[in-house]
Amino acid sequence: SDEVVLVGRSNVGKSTLMRELTGHKVPTGQKPGVTRQPNHFDWASEDFMFTDLPGFGYMQGVEDGHEEAIKTEVVRYIEEYADNIMLGVLVLDGKAAVDIIDRHSGEDEIPHVVELYYLLEELGIQPVVAVNKMDKVDDRDERLDDIGERLGLYPPWKQWQDVIAPITAKKGKITALEDAANNHFEAAKRDELK
Ligand code: GDP
Repeated sequence: SDEVVLVGRSNVGKSTLMRELTGHKVPTGQKPGVTRQPNHFDWASEDFMFTDLPGFGYMQGVEDGHEEAIKTEVVRYIEEYADNIMLGVLVLDGKAAVDIIDRHSGEDEIPHVVELYYLLEELGIQPVVAVNKMDKVDDRDERLDDIGERLGLYPPWKQWQDVIAPITAKKGKITALEDAANNHFEAAKRDELK
């Protein structure tokens, strides 16, 4: 498996992160229906294919029901290519994520990000939560604890550094994500050698 997928709501900074990771401008789909592009890049001394899946969530000029269609499409893509996907990077906006998750949590509602996190786990794909826009977050540790808690990763977040990666993509600060990814790549290599 050599594919890394980026998943998240629109406006969380997925394309900014993608550019940072690949050094390229990669077209992002704003429509449901994912075109699988063979975007291969060297990362962590390996050759990976990066796929930026369409962002769901509020979009201007897009009617209701569309969001659901995009999420369904993202789920379908991940399920279809699960065997080839090495890492699922769930990108969140560090400043907004807790409010959005809580707003969508109810008796019969699971927030999309939480659902996608569990989907990755169920399919045996290693999830990494890239908490972006950390430059806008003042109470860093508290915020990361809160986000982790909502994904079942109980505080302190620092014991989950292989999963929770605080980043500021806009300023090119993505070391935490690269470190987390590297650890998973190394672990996968060790497993293959067994
Ligand atoms: P996408 O819709 O998820 O692909 O999001 P974009 O990459 O287009 O970014 C959405 C907005 O967030 C843009 O205005 C970016 O400049 C901004 N943005 C992206 N990363 C960061 C970050 O690390 N910090 C801040 N403050 N803004 C960011």
